[in-house]
Amino acid sequence: MPRPILATIHTAALQHNLARARQAAQDAKLWCVVKANAYGHGIEQVFDGMRAADGFALLEPSEAQRIRDLGWRGPILLLEGVFDARDLELCSRLNLWHTVHCDQQIDWLAAHKTQQPHRVFLKMNSGMNRLGFTAERYRSAWARLNALPQVDEISFITHFSDADTAKGIGAALALFTQTTVDLPGERSICNSAALLRHPDMSASERGDWVRGGILLYGSAPDYPLQTADDWGLQPTMTLSAKVIGVQELQPGDTVGYGSAFTADKPMRIGVVACGYADGYPRHCGNGTPVLVDGQRSRLIGRVSMDMVTVDLTDIPQAGWGSEVTLWGRAANGTVLAIDEVAHAAGTVGYELMCAVAPRVPVVVD
Ligand code: PLP
Repeated sequence: MPRPILATIHTAALQHNLARARQAAQDAKLWCVVKANAYGHGIEQVFDGMRAADGFALLEPSEAQRIRDLGWRGPILLLEGVFDARDLELCSRLNLWHTVHCDQQIDWLAAHKTQQPHRVFLKMNSGMNRLGFTAERYRSAWARLNALPQVDEISFITHFSDADTAKGIGAALALFTQTTVDLPGERSICNSAALLRHPDMSASERGDWVRGGILLYGSAPDYPLQTADDWGLQPTMTLSAKVIGVQELQPGDTVGYGSAFTADKPMRIGVVACGYADGYPRHCGNGTPVLVDGQRSRLIGRVSMDMVTVDLTDIPQAGWGSEVTLWGRAANGTVLAIDEVAHAAGTVGYELMCAVAPRVPVVVD
C-alpha cells in the first residue's frame, strides 16, 4: 500500500473559480495562468477544469508543449518570453505568443529566419522593476519590433507590483495607459488581485486579456484582508493524510523534536503521514489549524520530515486511520483555507500549493 497521503484536485472548483474570474473580467478574454505546473496542481490535472479558458499563460516552453499535447489549439503566451534564441523556432512550431521584455529578445527576433511571423507582447515596467522596458524606453522598443518582418502583431503587457496592497494600481495604470495610448494592439494588464480588488476599472483600463492565476486555484491574493470565501472562490486542492499512530500524553509530556510542545493536561494526539518533505511548511507551529475527520483541531509540536502531530483530545471518535485535512475540503464538506495555513507559516497560499512534493500522489475528482 502507498503511504496514506494524497493531493486531490477538484475539477468542479476550478470550473467555479474560472466562472468567477470571467465575471470579474467582464468582457475581457481570460488567460488561465498555469506556470509552475499549474501552481503545483499539475497541468494535466487542471486542464479539464480550465477548458473554458480563452488561452493559457505560462513560463516554460516545455509546459507549452504539454498543453499542446493535451489538444489545446488556442492561444498560449510565454509570460517571460524566450530564454534562448533557439526557443523562437519552438514558438513558430507550436504557435506560441511570447513576451518581449528586453533588448536581447529583440536582437534574437531580428536575427531569426522564420516562415511564420511572431505575435509578441511588449512588456512595460510600470514600477515593479522586474522585467520590462521603462516608459522612457518603451516606444523605441516598440519601433524596433514594428520594423521587423519577423513580427506581425504587437500587443502590450504590464504587471502590477501593488494590486494587492493599499498602494494600489493607480500610478502604474496611468503610466501604462499614457505610454501606450496611441499604439495599435491588444493590452493585457490585470492579474487576480487587480481583477478582484479594482472592479471599478473601465473596460479599456482592464484591457483585452486578463491573466488569472491564484484566484483560479481558490486562494485570495490579498489574504488576510479578504478570504477566498469573501471573494466567492472554492479550494481546488485538498492535501490530506491519515493518522498512522496515536499517543496518550500525561501533563508534562512533550511532543516531537525539540520538545516544542508540553502537555498541561491528559491528552490524546495523532501522528499524521505528512511532513515537510511532502511540502507541508515546517514553519507551521503549535496551533496551526487542521481538520480531523472534518472537525477543526490543531497542530502540536514541530513539523518533521514525514510526520506532523495533531490534537485528538476533543475528538473522541478520532483515532488510527482518521482522515486529516491539512488544507482544502474534508469529506464532510468543511473547508480549511490554504491561506489560513500559509498565514500560520508566515507565507502565502501560492507557495504552499507550488511546494507540494512529487512524492505526494495526486488524484483528480
Ligand atoms: N501575470 C504575470 C506576469 C505573472 O507573473 C503572474 C504571477 O505571478 C500572473 C500574471 C498571475 O498572478 P496571480 O496569480 O496573482 O493572478
